[in-house]
Formats: sequence, C-alpha cells, structure tokens
Amino acid sequence: MKASRKLLLLIFWPVVLLSLFAVIVAYWSLSSIKTQSYLTYQKQVQDLHVVQQAADFSQEIGGLHRRVAEAIVQAKLGQLSEVQLYRLHTQIVDGMDALSGQVQALVESELLLEVNHGSVLLLQQEFQSYRRFIIQATDIIAIDPSVAQNYLQQAQESFIQFSMYIQRITYLLAERTEVRSAEEFDVHQRWLYGLILAGIVGLIAVLLLVLLFSSWISRKMAYIADALSQMARSDNCQTILLPNIEQMHAKDSGEFGRMAGALLSFRDAVERRKQAEAEAFELAFYDSLTHLPNRRLLIERLTHALALNHRTKQISALLCFDLDNFKSINDAQGHRAGDQVLVELAERLLEWAQNQNHIARIGGDEFVVVLDALGSDQEQAASKAEQAAEQLRAYLNQPYFIKGERYFSTPSMGIVLFTGKNETIEDLLKQSETAMYNAKSNGRNRISFYDPMMQQVLVERAAMEVALREAIEQSQFELFYQPQVDQAQLVVGAEALIRWHHPERGQVSPGDFIPLAEETGQIKQLGAWVLETACQQLKVWQKNHATAHLTLSVNVSAQQFKEVSFVQQVKQLIDQTQIRPQNLKIELTESTVLESVNEAVEKMRQLRGIGVKFSLDDFGTGYSSLQYLKRLPLDQIKIDQSFVKDINEDVDDAVIVQTIIAMSHALGIEVIAEGVETQAQKHLLERQGCRFYQGYLFGKPCPIKDFHISS
Ligand code: C2E
Ligand code: CA
Ligand code: CA
Repeated sequence: MKASRKLLLLIFWPVVLLSLFAVIVAYWSLSSIKTQSYLTYQKQVQDLHVVQQAADFSQEIGGLHRRVAEAIVQAKLGQLSEVQLYRLHTQIVDGMDALSGQVQALVESELLLEVNHGSVLLLQQEFQSYRRFIIQATDIIAIDPSVAQNYLQQAQESFIQFSMYIQRITYLLAERTEVRSAEEFDVHQRWLYGLILAGIVGLIAVLLLVLLFSSWISRKMAYIADALSQMARSDNCQTILLPNIEQMHAKDSGEFGRMAGALLSFRDAVERRKQAEAEAFELAFYDSLTHLPNRRLLIERLTHALALNHRTKQISALLCFDLDNFKSINDAQGHRAGDQVLVELAERLLEWAQNQNHIARIGGDEFVVVLDALGSDQEQAASKAEQAAEQLRAYLNQPYFIKGERYFSTPSMGIVLFTGKNETIEDLLKQSETAMYNAKSNGRNRISFYDPMMQQVLVERAAMEVALREAIEQSQFELFYQPQVDQAQLVVGAEALIRWHHPERGQVSPGDFIPLAEETGQIKQLGAWVLETACQQLKVWQKNHATAHLTLSVNVSAQQFKEVSFVQQVKQLIDQTQIRPQNLKIELTESTVLESVNEAVEKMRQLRGIGVKFSLDDFGTGYSSLQYLKRLPLDQIKIDQSFVKDINEDVDDAVIVQTIIAMSHALGIEVIAEGVETQAQKHLLERQGCRFYQGYLFGKPCPIKDFHISS
C-alpha cells in the first residue's frame, strides 16, 4: 500500500515539475505581452499629447487671430486708444513668442519628425510668416487699419496653410495609431500562437515523459513478476537465479532497490523452505542409508503402476528379495560392514535398473524391484520376469569388496505378477514375500513365483531348456518337407520345417520350442543344423535329373540371421555341399529384416551375389509398407496363411491379398501363397495373379521318404 503510494508520487513529481515549467513559460509570455502593450500605450499617449498640443496651439492662435481682427475693426471705427493699441501689440508679440516656443516644441517632437519629417520645416516657415504678418498688422494698426487689414489677410493665408497642416498631422497620427494597433494585434496573435504551440509541445513532452517513466516502471514490475513466478514454479532445491533483481538491488537505491532487496530475501526464504521440504521429503520417502525409495514411496508408485496396467492391459511383476546370509555378515563383521554391503547393493541395483522409480528398500536387507512392460501374455510375462530376475541374481551374486575384504551375499527372490485388475498393494507385497520365503526354503539363492501355475511354467521351461540341449546333442530333430507347387500343381520346390521327436513326449511342434530356443540362444545351433540338413537334401535332389530343379526354402530366425558370421556360414555350406545356390531360398520375416534394415540388406546382397534367393515370410502380418519393400533385395513374397484362410469369405482379406499381389508384380517380385487348403482358395488366388502355392491342398509337411514330386 505504502509502496504503491510512493510509486504514485514518483510519477506525480515529473508531471508537477513539467506543469510548473509550463506555467512559468505562460507567465513569461503573458508578461512580455503586457510590457509590449504598455510600451505601445505610452507611445499612443505621447501621440495624443502631441495632438492635444496641436489642438491647443490651433485654439490659441485662433484666439490671437480673432483679437487682431476685432482690433482692426475697432481701430477702423476709432474705438481704440493708442495705449490700448500698444498693449494689444505687446500682448500679440508675447502670445506669438509663446506660440513660437510651442511650434518649436512640436517641430522638435520625435513623433512629428517620425511621421512627417520632410514638412516639419514647412510648418515652421508657415508659422514664422504668419507671425510676421500678424505683428506687422498690429504694428500698422494705429497708423492705417486698412493696411493692417491687408496684412491680416496675408496672415490668414498662412493660417489656413498652417491649419491644414495641423489637420494632416492629426490624420497621420490617427493612421499611425491604427497601424500600431494592427501591429500590436499581430504581435498578440503571434504570442498566442507561440503559447499554444509551446503548450502542445509541453503536453507532448509530459506525455512522453509519463510514457517513458511508466515503461521504466512496468519493466521493473515485469522483473518482479517474473521473479515471483519463477519462485512459485521452482519445485526442486535448485538455486533460483534472479539476475535482473540482483542488478536492481545493486543499482537502484530507491523504492525498487528496496523491493528487489525484499524479493532477494524472499527468495532465500523460499530456497530454505524448499531445502527443508526436500529434506523432509527425503526423510519421509527415502531410506537414509541407501537413498533408495522406502516402502511408503514404493506404495505410492505401485498405486500408479496398478492403475496404468489396468488401463493398458499390461502385465508387470513385483520382485522382492533379501540377502541370504546378511545376518551373519552383521554378526561377524559388525553393522558397519553390513551397511556397506547394503549401500553397494543399492548402487548395483540402481545401475541394473537404470531407473530409481522401480526399486525400493522396504526393510533391513529387504528390497523390491518392479518389472514392467512384460507384455499381455501371462506365460510370456512370467518368462520375461524370470529372465530379468535371473540376470539380477547373477549380478548380486558377485562378491562385495569392503575394506579390502571379499564378501559373498546371495539373494532369494520372490516374484508375483500383477495386471492391476483385482490386486491390492498389500496383498502383492505379502505374496512376493511369501514367494521369497519359498525360494529360501527351496535352498536359497534362487527365484520363486507366488503363482503355482507360473512356477510350473518356469519349471517346465527350465526342463524344456535342458531337454532341448540334449535334443541337439542327441540329434532328436528331423526336417519335414512341404511341397510348393505352380499353377499346374507341379511341384517346384519345398519348405523345410523342423520336427522334434521327444523320447517321452513324442513329436513337439516347432511353435512350442522355437521361441524358447530363440530366447536361450539355442536357435543358433538348431538353425545351423537345419541349414546344413537342407543343403544336404538339395545336394541329393541335384544329383537326380527329376528333382534337380527343386528349390528348398529354409526358415532363418532373427538371432541366427543377426550373427556376424551368417553369410560366411551359408557360403561355407554351399561350398562344402557343392549345391547350386539358386535352389536355396532363405525365408526371413519382416521383423527380422526391419530390426536393422541396412545390415539386413547388406547381408542379403552378399548372398544374392552368389545366387541365393530370399523370400519374405508371413507377409502382411507386420508393417507391410511399400516404402521398405522397395529397398529389400527380395525374390519372393509369401502371403501369410491368415489371409488365405478366409480369402473366399472375408472381403477385406481378399482385398489385402489382391493388393499384395499387385504390389509384388509392380516390384517384379514373385508371390507364393501359404496355407492353401481348398480348391476355391487356389482358384481365387490364381485369378488374382498368384502363381505359386503351398498348403495342405498339395501336401502336408512330411519326412523326406514321403515327399513325392508327382502325385
Ligand atoms: P511358418 O514358417 O509360417 O511355416 C508354416 C507353418 O504352417 C508350418 O507349421 C506348416 O506346417 C503350417 N502349414 C502349412 N500348410 C498349412 C495349411 O494348409 N494349413 C495350416 N493350417 N497350416 C499349414 P509348423 O511346421 O508347425 O511351423 C511353425 C513355425 O515354426 C513356422 O511357421 C516357422 O516360423 C517355425 N519353424 C519351423 N521350422 C523352422 C526352422 O527350421 N527354423 C526356424 N527358425 N523356424 C522354424
Ligand atoms: Ca516359413
Ligand atoms: Ca509363414
């Protein structure tokens, strides 16, 4: 309040000063006008005085003249005595002398000279001649009144001249007054205009000043507002930088300087408060030893995670673990060493998780990790969670070095999956702990799932992994061959499909073990075996004239294709088996190629360079963009069986198939349809321009002994 009043005063003063200045200017101009008017008035008075003098003069001379004329009349009648005549003579001479003085004064008057200096002399001359005649008339009056009458008449002439002259002077003087008034009016007007102009200029100056001043003030105000909002927005403990305010504080000793000072101390207070808040937050939500989130923060975050999973239908896992022999470290080495182990463990956890949001310390040696984005399939999610846990377990199994001593401390881990649907956080935490104790009772340093079914999956997976390893060692695999035919249903080649003859379980579908083999990396060995077997089969076919033309398509997994030595492996096989590379066709899926297109294209080019062919498997199920299709060096596109299946019923599928065919033809790529089971499907495909087919209609995958090129 006080500050704003002072601010107003700050604006008020310049305005007052300027107004004062304007008043002074106005006063000065008005007093100048007044002086000017006074001077003019004085001149006017002088002029009038001269006119008055002239009038007096005329009157007096008229009086004298009349007396002389009367005396002449009386003399003619003999009514005047000699003494009277003499007195008259002296009176007239005295009067004339006095008038002479007046004429002299008139003639010498500045004004008369100014108005008409040329004819001033004339006035004097006329007066002198008048005086002469009048005096002569009074001289002679006693002797001869008639002569006196004559002189008087001559004097009369001069008198008339003289009067006219006086009149002219009066007229001139009047004219002069008029001119002077007009001039004065002009001067007044000019002054007035000047005053108005000065007023306008002054007003503009005031306005400009006010504008300048208010912009200066608003700039300062903006600094202050900025600073305040910056302080309001700052949500962490970072120092709030206010360079403008600091500058204001340093430079401005007035009101703004004080305001800046107040702001700066306010900032310090805000910073201190934020610091205190942060410390309180740290105390409330973080563990003071490891600085990891504590149980409370974990619950907070889990609440969000549950809601998110519920929305996105994703599965996450809660992994709880503690250290198997932590108590003995504490007991034997002291709490210091125990704390050190925990701190180092926390560091490893952070490094492994790369995101502090997903880990917490919820008890002495008990930690929790949230694993998210595990997909929407329960079994796959369990498998992914198990893999991640396994990785973490291996990491934590590494020794801890404390003061040069080596400590081992293994974790027991419990996992529970959650979808965010019907779970509560408390339950989840309890379940993961139960699973963890399970892991402990099962022998420690291991992973256990809370859900028995998930546990079963894990157990089976582990068993399958072992079995697969044995299967590779013991060659329990076989290649089946499924014919590929042309329009005339003549066999042009085959696709090699792997089969696993499990000693106990019988035949296992590749759909059940290929994904596992991919996960565990066993696919590399498996794939190498498939490729080798396929090449050997091609070699057999090549030896026989009837089968020499057959191509063989081999499925290659992403992992296998990604191997640096893949091109080399294939080339080596071709060399060894001496097959025609043109008859070997490698089937890749879109995802395999698109993982790193440039690398894939390069490898494909190298192999195509020696004649090997490439087919794009399951086309239409992935990205299917013409953009990349153009870039890929392909020989064939394989329309996925899902489109073929309903091609006769589903219009959309029919359109997709038609588009794929048109697109491939435009790019000069051959098309084959897989999963063809009916004649109707074949007919439709044929009508749309597809020339090659594969499916149960022409033959199921079968052992080589059952594979025939003609039915
Ligand atoms: P895929 O490459 O798409 O192979 C086609 C699958 O469709 C084969 O299943 C085949 O038996 C089946 N099939 C063929 N014609 C028909 C038909 O008319 N109707 C129906 N309903 N199905 C038909 P399979 O042999 O079980 O193979 C499954 C998948 O396993 C293959 O899909 C492939 O991705 C993978 N696979 C098979 N052998 C190998 C291999 O040697 N290496 C690699 N990496 N993967 C393989
Ligand atoms: Ca295939
Ligand atoms: Ca396929």
